[in-house]
Amino acid sequence: MNRFKQIYKQIKKYDTIVLTRHIGPDPDALGSTLGLKEIILNTFPHKKVYAVGTPTVKHKYIGELDTFTDDMYNNSLLIVLDTPNKNRVDGVDVDKFSYSIKIDHHPFIEQFCNIELIDDKASSASQLVMELVKNTKLVPNKEGASKLYIGLVGDTNRFMFSYTTPKTFDLVSYIIKKTNLDFTKIYNQMYERSITDLKLQAYIVNNINITDNGLGYIKVTEEQLETLDSDPASVTNVVNSLHNIKEMYAWVICVYDKNNEYIRTSIRSRGPIINEIASNYNGGGHIYASGAKPKTFEEADQLIQELDKACLKYKEGE
Ligand code: AMP
Repeated sequence: MNRFKQIYKQIKKYDTIVLTRHIGPDPDALGSTLGLKEIILNTFPHKKVYAVGTPTVKHKYIGELDTFTDDMYNNSLLIVLDTPNKNRVDGVDVDKFSYSIKIDHHPFIEQFCNIELIDDKASSASQLVMELVKNTKLVPNKEGASKLYIGLVGDTNRFMFSYTTPKTFDLVSYIIKKTNLDFTKIYNQMYERSITDLKLQAYIVNNINITDNGLGYIKVTEEQLETLDSDPASVTNVVNSLHNIKEMYAWVICVYDKNNEYIRTSIRSRGPIINEIASNYNGGGHIYASGAKPKTFEEADQLIQELDKACLKYKEGE
């Protein structure tokens, strides 16, 4: 039996299913989780299906999350999406469930579920869910498809990144045709932003440092954050708006997060491999999109230096 059929068999078997994803979720983490929840419920209306984990205000438009309670451990199936390692699973104890499934597109870190569907060539966890749906008797509906579409478009930055493949387009075409999804409407929700966000972006652009090797970096202290009247997550999120700047191969935003007492760090690249460097600073992620949590700005400086070296190596190899 192939992996898709094995997963379908477990979904069919369990009456209670809990879905979760990585901490600090992005549109793919939420879209794949909420999309799969909708599609399971559309296929099996009498099952109890919950999508849990800490909600984020910024991504509320993707859908409401359920509150996890301990009775959900009883005789239930856990599906973890978009998460490569156990300590990044949000809100639940994986080992307390009767059975567990992982669906992920990060480079492999560790096995922690009974069945693991991993494809690090897939553009997104949402794409893997589309593939699961296409290859099983799960019945997609418009509501679920729209969430998967949001996740896939989020992780590929509107089909721009290199891991967008013919398979990506095939699966997107399949899900749109199957559900008659009006996908152009979705962009409004995803890309509408406030003038405050744009001003924050302007601040970052005006203050970013660019090294001779093509690394863009900016460090935001607690005092600067107060002056900006912003929060660490909003500041690091600007990292996604800095693609295709001629002078930068990779770029990193570091912000002091006083609630968690670390430097919240987001890194992106359009050439140098960054996830291995991020993993030296309590971080990780994809080869071109990673995060880290250095404890001090001194540690962040070391991370910046390592990234700068990676840019130099990349530049010399070009
Ligand atoms: P972000 O910059 O927070 O949007 O994260 C980009 C990617 O890196 C996502 O796939 C995250 O799951 C991953 N990531 C972010 N922070 C960490 C971390 N501290 N440890 C491992 N992976 C991370």
